[in-house]
Amino acid sequence: MPFSQLGLSDKVVSAVAAAGYTNPTPIQQQAIPYVLEGRDVLGIAQTGTGKTAAFVLPMLTKLEKGRARARMPRTLILEPTRELAAQVFEHFEKYGAKHKLNVALLIGGVSFGNQDIKLTRGVDVLIATPGRLLDHTERGGLLLTGVELLVIDEADRMLDMGFIPDIERIGKLVPFTRQTLFFTATMPSEIQRIADTFLHNPQRVEVARPATTASTITQSLVSCGSEPHEKRATLRQLLRGAAEMQNAIIFCNRKRDVALLHRSLSKHGFNAVALHGDMDQPARMAALDAFRKGDATILVASDVAARGLDIPAVSHVFNFDVPYHPDDYVHRVGRTGRAGRLGTAMTLVGSSIDKKAVAAIEKLTGQTIGWLDTPPPAEAEDGERSARKERHSRGGRSDKRRGRNPRPAADNDPATQGTVARLDEARDRRRARPQREPELANDGIESHLPAFLLRPIRVKA
Ligand code: AMP
Repeated sequence: MPFSQLGLSDKVVSAVAAAGYTNPTPIQQQAIPYVLEGRDVLGIAQTGTGKTAAFVLPMLTKLEKGRARARMPRTLILEPTRELAAQVFEHFEKYGAKHKLNVALLIGGVSFGNQDIKLTRGVDVLIATPGRLLDHTERGGLLLTGVELLVIDEADRMLDMGFIPDIERIGKLVPFTRQTLFFTATMPSEIQRIADTFLHNPQRVEVARPATTASTITQSLVSCGSEPHEKRATLRQLLRGAAEMQNAIIFCNRKRDVALLHRSLSKHGFNAVALHGDMDQPARMAALDAFRKGDATILVASDVAARGLDIPAVSHVFNFDVPYHPDDYVHRVGRTGRAGRLGTAMTLVGSSIDKKAVAAIEKLTGQTIGWLDTPPPAEAEDGERSARKERHSRGGRSDKRRGRNPRPAADNDPATQGTVARLDEARDRRRARPQREPELANDGIESHLPAFLLRPIRVKA
């Protein structure tokens, strides 16, 4: 069925054609007619299914009638992250170029002043993250009583990020008679409860969840040590060995590991950028932009930051950490092998916890992921340096936080005992050749060499 038969306006149909899309995706085909009818819609679909256009295109058609009033947006779209909000904004720019609509983006990390000026002029479409939206309403600069259509996008991600109380507060500020479109990839009971409170007699549209990963993706598990420096060494070998790699996203489970891995890769000469929730908005946008344009070939990211981002043509995905939630694995791996292209996904598996997480993934997808035959050799010397730095920084942090001596803290921590043993080995080797200068390079991240390790010692006969 072509776009022209869905009931969209001529302007919208021609904008879609200009964007090069010929046929609607299943979620678009199902949802668009209901949105145009004014029905509430419960859409169960992941990113990558074309769900953004499934609400943007009918919204544009509906907004052709009517005018915006100062500080009273006509429609409101809630997104869990700034990047997703910005991506939806881009959809309005792309398809709504001829509509002369006022579209405003209310996201954290940018000044209130400019956002306020836009609101005063009157907006047809307000795209917001929940926190910043509430900041504006509390300051009295924004009234939601004129909202005719509310979109809650990525509701399950909102739940993960703790936004549900904010969403419920916003629900009390919009008119009862509005139309609501609610999109989620999964339907846990808490999301079902929210959907029940927000939607009135909704039309449910669902596209098959990609609980299995695309057949265009070659997936493998790579055995490695469980210490971070060992994982980094293995990852570098994989990156260097991937001859056909054009670009890669590397996923970590935690924000601070994203930052650490990014610094390490940069020090090792890789062209990498980072994306995590603690970065300010301009830095996040700059990183994404560099990766999209190909100025950077590696994006190190956390799940939350990368969720739903439209980054076409990624040749490789690496899971530096096995994700905690098996759903996230499907999502991460789905960043590659898109639109029929070939993709490669590799997952580093170091600990027994990792192995359990892999088992959960295999259960969800119903697929067994094979092990890479010959895991790359570890970079021993480099690993030593990393370990030293790691022990130092770990000890330093815990020292500050708990006011204790760093060495005993590290010794008592089972997670660091292996590292400490290796450090002791390294020290012993150095003591065995006291006349030679230490040959450790100063590469920034693993730069600090405690003075006592360099002191020559006398060995009694
Ligand atoms: P989304 O699920 O909204 O993040 O969309 C994923 C990707 O599909 C985006 O790059 C869209 O531009 C693209 N897309 C949206 N609609 C269509 C369509 N009808 N045909 C082909 N690609 C589409």
